[in-house]
Amino acid sequence: YVAVEEASDAAPRIGLPANLVPREGMRIYQCRARGIFRKEKKKPLVGDRVRIEILDEEKAEANLTEILPRKNELIRPAAANVDQAVVFFALKEPDPDAALLDRFLILMHRQEVPVIICLNKKDLADSAESQRWKTIYESCGYRVLLTSAGIWEKEKKSSPETREDPELEELRGILAGKTTVIAGPSGVGKSTLTNVLQDTVIMETGEISRKLHKGKNTTRHAELVPLGSGTYFCDTPGFASLDLPDMEKEELQACFPEFGSFEELCRFQGCSHVTEPDCGVREAVRTGKIAPERYENYCRFYRELQDREKHKYS
Ligand code: GDP
Ligand code: ZN
Repeated sequence: YVAVEEASDAAPRIGLPANLVPREGMRIYQCRARGIFRKEKKKPLVGDRVRIEILDEEKAEANLTEILPRKNELIRPAAANVDQAVVFFALKEPDPDAALLDRFLILMHRQEVPVIICLNKKDLADSAESQRWKTIYESCGYRVLLTSAGIWEKEKKSSPETREDPELEELRGILAGKTTVIAGPSGVGKSTLTNVLQDTVIMETGEISRKLHKGKNTTRHAELVPLGSGTYFCDTPGFASLDLPDMEKEELQACFPEFGSFEELCRFQGCSHVTEPDCGVREAVRTGKIAPERYENYCRFYRELQDREKHKYS
């Protein structure tokens, strides 16, 4: 394992990429987990805050002696002490996959991780269409940003003193001081944005002496990338599909926050909103108050969980 100890009194964090060049005031130690973890059946996770015992300062080797209490523990991605997730989708090339996005939102909702949605490549998309996506997810209670990481990257290259983009500023504000899981399918602009933000850190503070290895991300698991003091990216491999988490079909509606105010209009208590008559949710879909795309995905996932249940008990 690779851990970092910052000059501050913050505990070292686990899961830094091996090729990271430490900035000033930071040391990276290669750590071995001692046998006690095996006995306790507690495995160190990316994002863990730990205590270490330095074995060799020169070789930067240390022993992991303690995992500090976790704020939370995610199964997917396997990471600890995560504050939030920013999920990336492209508005074009590739077209957004709403079902995949909704699956991700369910996954995070079940793990109680707040999600910010970043719809990238807005330069390629029709602006009315982009706005439509933004409105759909905002009406579900999510913060949605329309971004153009590719344009930012070009501007940064041509003139480092470029004007600030309000979305970039907003995103930086969202990330500051937090540990954020960055997720999304491949090809949507995650690494482009990561690079833009890292370049920014270098420009502003001169903290990172060399950029992280660029190019295609081939890691299979999450990594923790420090962006500044107390600010971390949890970089995860791109996903092409997602299974619904282990849950009951009755628990699904809670993952669709926009259903909330309409559920009390359903005739039946415990209405599934799929087949029952006089359903408030279905009425809201009919009158355009709930996005039909979201509702269709709800029904689809509901059946998926229903099928799963049947297989479990047959
Ligand atoms: P990742 O797989 O999610 O990390 O995606 P990349 O960051 O590697 O981006 C995939 C491709 O999309 C690259 O060719 C980028 O240059 C391009 N790209 C990224 N962001 C944008 C954007 O905002 N607009 C456009 N037009 N292209 C972008
Ligand atoms: Zn209903």
